[in-house]
Amino acid sequence: MSQSVNHSRRNLFRRRKLDAQRPPWVKSDIEFTDECSRCNACIDACETNVLIKGDGGFPEISFTNNECTFCQQCATVCKEPIFDLSQLTPWDIKASVNDSCLTYQGVWCQSCKDACDPAAISFKMAIGQVPKPMIDIEACTGCGACVAPCPSASISVIELNVTD
Ligand code: SF4
Ligand code: SF4
Ligand code: SF4
Repeated sequence: MSQSVNHSRRNLFRRRKLDAQRPPWVKSDIEFTDECSRCNACIDACETNVLIKGDGGFPEISFTNNECTFCQQCATVCKEPIFDLSQLTPWDIKASVNDSCLTYQGVWCQSCKDACDPAAISFKMAIGQVPKPMIDIEACTGCGACVAPCPSASISVIELNVTD
């Protein structure tokens, strides 16, 4: 792969990391803000209220209070050519724990594990240390259920798969 392509992929990765997280099953080859009419239909349809009105009035995901159940209501009510429910996975985001996690300060906590239905979070035992969370990237669906219960706001759900 040429250097210039590498640069463009890196730029894409940075841009995606900075962008707001859009709903699940959004087509990967569209510019979301070009297609979305800001009608709010998906926001109104979202059963867990994880879709909020974000910058510019465009819908974005916030896991601050709840998770995505992948109910598909957002994709079903949208009248624009934005969603593709035939995509095998709803999105590429995965949970990531940073070192503000309480276990890094010796505090026992496993709240994230208890919230994770697919059992993607396990705790690594080590002699003389509090067990620390580990995310199974394959099992993680990016649902965000682990975010709200974390007492130290240590979990982000982000794209990890584009690396260079
Ligand atoms: S799939 Fe359901 S829960 Fe997830 S963002 Fe869409 S409407 Fe909300
Ligand atoms: S985002 Fe969902 S599936 Fe992934 S670790 Fe958190 S709770 Fe588990
Ligand atoms: S819930 Fe938060 S503080 Fe507790 S173990 Fe998980 S990431 Fe660490």
